[in-house]
Amino acid sequence: MRASLEVADIFRAAGPTYRAAHAGHLSLHQLKIMSAIEHCPTAALGGHVEACTDCGHWRIAYNSCRNRHCPRCQGAAARSWLEAREADLLPVGYFHVVFTLPAEVAAIAFHNKAPLYDLLFKAAADTMLTIAADPKHLGARIGITAVLHTWGSALTHHPHIHMIVPGGGISRDGTRWISARPAFLLPVRVLGALFRRLFLTRLRALHDRGQLAFYGSMSDLAERRAFLRHLSPVRKKRWVVYAKPPFAGPEAVLAYLARYTHRVAISN
Ligand SMILES: [Zn+2]
Ligand SMILES: [Zn+2]
Repeated sequence: MRASLEVADIFRAAGPTYRAAHAGHLSLHQLKIMSAIEHCPTAALGGHVEACTDCGHWRIAYNSCRNRHCPRCQGAAARSWLEAREADLLPVGYFHVVFTLPAEVAAIAFHNKAPLYDLLFKAAADTMLTIAADPKHLGARIGITAVLHTWGSALTHHPHIHMIVPGGGISRDGTRWISARPAFLLPVRVLGALFRRLFLTRLRALHDRGQLAFYGSMSDLAERRAFLRHLSPVRKKRWVVYAKPPFAGPEAVLAYLARYTHRVAISN
C-alpha cells in the first residue's frame, strides 16, 4: 500500500532548495543518496517490460534504486526477507532467545565492530548448539535464525543477538524429532555461563594476537594486564540470556526483526 506522503515526495519537493541552501556542506555520498531516493522508482533509473508469454499482458516497470537508505527499497527488501523466513518456519512451537553483551565488553566492541560482532554471533550460536546437543538437556541438533542488533531502544550502543529457535531438534542419529517442553527450551543460567566462557576465552585470544584496537580513554587496555583487569568484573557476573516462547508466535518476532534488519533512518 502506498503511504499518502512518502519520504521521496518530501525530497522531490524540498530537495533542490535544501541543496542550494547547503551547497558545499553536503558530501558526494549524501547527494547520491538524495538523488537515489528522489528518482526511485521513476523513468530516470531506466525500466523494463514485464510480459506474460501466455496471456500477452504486459506492463512497464521502472527500476528501483536499491540504495540502503531508500525507505521504498528497504521496505521491499524487508518484506521479501520476512516472507523467506516465514517460509522456513516449522509447524512446532518456537522460542525467542536473546544474548546480550555486558557493558564493559560492549565498550570494547564499539571500536572493534567486525571481530567482536563476529565473535558474538559465533559464541551465541555455539552456546545454543552445544547445550541443546547435550543429552542432559535436549540432546538434539537444533536450527537457529539469528539477527544482530547493535543499538538499543535508547539509541545507545547495545550489541545483542536475537534468535528464533524451534522448540526441538533432530536426534543425534538423525532418525527422529525430539520436542522440547512447551514453555522450556534450555536452562538460561547454563546458557549464560557457557556463553560467558566461550566469549571471554576467544576475546582474550583476539587480544593476544593483537587483533583488537583501543582508542581514547580505553587506550591503556592494549596492555594485557590492564585488559584482564578491565574484564575481571565480567568474569564473575552473570551474563543474561533470555529464552521464552513469544506471546504472538514466531511470526511476530520475525516481523519485529525484519523492521530492524532493513531499517532506514526515516521510513515511509
Ligand atoms: Zn529506492
Ligand atoms: Zn534487539
